[in-house]
Amino acid sequence: MSNIGDLQSLSSSITAVTSPFRNYLNDVHKKYRSLNDGAVADYIPELALAKPEWFGICVVTAEGQVFEVGDCDQLFTIQSISKAFVFGLALEDHGREYVNSKVSVEPTGEAFNSIVLDEATNRPYNPMVNAGAIATADLIKGQNGTERLKRLLEMFKRYTGRDHDINVPVFLSEKATGHRNRAMAYLMLNFGMVSEKLDETLDLYFQQCSILVNAKDLAMIAATLANGGINPVTKERAVDERYVQDIISVMLTCGMYDASGEWAYRVGMPAKSGVGGGILAVVPGKLGIGTFSPPLDQKGNSVRGIKVCEELSRDFGLHLFSVAKPERNLQEWIAGDSINDW
Ligand code: GLU
Repeated sequence: MSNIGDLQSLSSSITAVTSPFRNYLNDVHKKYRSLNDGAVADYIPELALAKPEWFGICVVTAEGQVFEVGDCDQLFTIQSISKAFVFGLALEDHGREYVNSKVSVEPTGEAFNSIVLDEATNRPYNPMVNAGAIATADLIKGQNGTERLKRLLEMFKRYTGRDHDINVPVFLSEKATGHRNRAMAYLMLNFGMVSEKLDETLDLYFQQCSILVNAKDLAMIAATLANGGINPVTKERAVDERYVQDIISVMLTCGMYDASGEWAYRVGMPAKSGVGGGILAVVPGKLGIGTFSPPLDQKGNSVRGIKVCEELSRDFGLHLFSVAKPERNLQEWIAGDSINDW
């Protein structure tokens, strides 16, 4: 032992036993950080403020081990990712049959904001497109808008283990410019698919899109689903176990906008993305992934987030339908990790 540097590295190797998985994630982050494809969403000025270089990757296991690299504390608006969880709350409020009578679970293959309803039943196609998300928000119980929003925020707290705020400027811009959403909402009102309190519900929808989260929150939410609806760190139940499969199956078929088929084929993880740059992916029974990187591809999905999930899926055999022996065994790669930096 010849100098202070050697002593320091010896002491850190004693106190911080790290698994190879941390180095793996660092390498993946390094590899894609210089990928500069895609464009930051700019349909409202607030979103265009996001820095294209922001990039965070977080993985939380169903046992509650947390692995993170990059900008995992940077807050951004959850946007469309909220839709999956509001669907879960609507199921808890009304049960499967009633919710399904108002919103179908069929992928559209069309853009998330298309103004299209199922011709036979007048139902929106699924809870992940805007029309379906607004019809789902309509189902959230509460005396008034404030109470309904409070219920949503409490739900997200159960999933993440911490309090959440709304980004008020984003909410106000969504509300001021959301004419298309308003148009589809009124079309649904015309068909009796949503209730008369539609303006309150539209506010709730714009507010749910404006909830602030970070990549760690997304990974924790995903890990909670992977763990059957119980947050693996706080041990609190976030959603009724019966509805976890409803949420993740709709995520698999409809979660990645009109790239959901391609995603299911290539990545094979139920996932949901949002135009804020987040992606949340679930490997049932195993882990949750949260990525954050604002530049989006043509379909509205985070370019770097897709790459990270593709790579994780391939390297560790995390595709839902994978039967081949994976290149790397996840349990071995995360074993021996003594750091929980959540
Ligand atoms: N707030 C957006 C809208 O209603 C949702 C954006 C998204 O797809 O993430 O247009």
